[in-house]
Amino acid sequence: MFIDKASITVRAGSGGNGAVAFHREKFVASGGPDGGDGGRGGDVILQVDPNMSTLMDFRYKRKYAAENGGDGTGNRCSGKNGKSLVIRVPRGTVIRDQETGALIWDMSMGETFTLARGGSGGWGNQHFATPTRQAPRFAKSGLPGESRDVVLELKLLADVGLVGFPNVGKSTLLSVVSKAHPKIADYHFTTLYPNLGVVFVEEGVSFVMADIPGIIEGASEGAGLGHDFLRHIDRCRLLIHVVDASGSEGRDPVEDLQAINRELREYSAALGERKQLIAANKTDILQDAEPLDRLRAYCEENGLRLFEISAAAHKGIRELVLAAAEELRQLPPIIVYEPEVQEFTPGPCRPEDISIAHYDDVWILEGEWLARLVRNVNFGDYESRQFFDRTLRDSGIYDRLETLGICDGDTVSIFDVEFEYRR
Ligand code: GDP
Ligand code: MG
Repeated sequence: MFIDKASITVRAGSGGNGAVAFHREKFVASGGPDGGDGGRGGDVILQVDPNMSTLMDFRYKRKYAAENGGDGTGNRCSGKNGKSLVIRVPRGTVIRDQETGALIWDMSMGETFTLARGGSGGWGNQHFATPTRQAPRFAKSGLPGESRDVVLELKLLADVGLVGFPNVGKSTLLSVVSKAHPKIADYHFTTLYPNLGVVFVEEGVSFVMADIPGIIEGASEGAGLGHDFLRHIDRCRLLIHVVDASGSEGRDPVEDLQAINRELREYSAALGERKQLIAANKTDILQDAEPLDRLRAYCEENGLRLFEISAAAHKGIRELVLAAAEELRQLPPIIVYEPEVQEFTPGPCRPEDISIAHYDDVWILEGEWLARLVRNVNFGDYESRQFFDRTLRDSGIYDRLETLGICDGDTVSIFDVEFEYRR
C-alpha cells in the first residue's frame, strides 16, 4: 500500500533532575554539596532514507519519543544523556505543523533535521554553593523535551511528471523510457500510486520521471482519484502531458488537454504554469486523422511543443526524451520549499502554570509554560532577551514574587536560565 501523508506526534526526552547530595567521607565532619547535574534529554531527529518511497511505516506507529536524561547523583555524578531517536523518512518528505499547517522543513534540503530538541538537565546542588550558602538543600528539575504534532507529506522528487487522463498510456511511456515496471492495463486507474523511473539519455545525462495516477476532471476539488497525487508532481521541473490521439476511447485530445490544464491551474497557479511538452500517444492505431490535426493546430497556436508518439510501438520516443533533456538543461532546479516562519507566542499563563520554590535568596520557578518560553528564547540575542523579560512581566509572575517577599538582588532561576531580580 502506498501512504503519502501521515500525522505523528513526537516528544524529545526531558532533561534529568539535578541531585541534592553532600559529600560523605570517614573522618570528614560535614562535606560540601556534591549533587551532580541531570543528563540531557535525547532529540527527535528525522533522517532521509534514500530507499524509502512511502510513509507507510507511520500508519501503524504514530507516537515517537526520545529517551529522557538520567537524574544526577551524589559524588558529582552527572546523569546519563538520553539517546536521541532517529526517524527515517523518504527523501522529499515535507513536514508541517499539524495545527497551523505552516511548513516546518523540507527533507530535500539535507539528510537530517532535528524536529524536537531534548531538554537540558537540571543543575545539582553543587552549583548553588557560595561562601554564604554552604549547604544548599535544593537542586533543579530538567527542562522538559519539546513535543510537536506534525503532518508528514511525501512530495516526490522527480524532474519530469507525467500528466493526463487515465488510460492514455502514461505508465506505458514510463516503462518504455526507464527500467520502472508500473502496472499497465486497459482499464482506468490501474496506477494507484506514483512510480518513479530513471531515464537514461546519454553518458552522464539522466533524469527522474514520475508517473502518477490519472487525473480526472474535478480532481483538484477532491472528486475521485488524482487530487492527492497532484502533490507529487508539484515540484517537477517539467511536465509531459500525454493525450490519446487515436480516438480509441472516443476522447478528443484538445478537450482533454484543456481539461487537465484546468485541473492543474486549479490545484495551484504555479503548477498550471509549469513548462509542458505534449505527447500525442497511440498514433499507431489512429482511426481518424482529424483530431490529431486539430491538436497540432492547437499546439502551434499556443506555442506548445507536440510530439507524436506510440509508447506501445516505441515510436517517437527518442525525440521526446531528447527534447525533455534539452528543456531540463534550461529549467531551474527542483523546487525546495522554504520553511514558513512561525511567530512564537507563549499563550496565556495561569498562576497554577508556574510553581515557585524558595530557598534563601534563590527563587526556583518551574512549569510547562516557562519551559516553552525558555526554549523559544535565544539568550544570546538582545531582542530575544527583551521579549523574555517583557513576557515574564506581563505574565504577572513578578507580582507574585513580590508578594512572597523577593528582594532586589535575589536570584531567579528558571530551568537553565538565571538572573538577578530587579524590580
Ligand atoms: P495510463 O493509465 O495512462 O497509465 O495508461 P497505461 O499505460 O496503463 O495504458 C493503457 C492502455 O493503453 C494499455 O492497454 C496499454 O497497452 C495501451 N497503450 C499505451 N500506449 C499505447 C500505444 O502507444 N498504442 C496502443 N495501441 N496502445 C497503447
Ligand atoms: Mg497508469
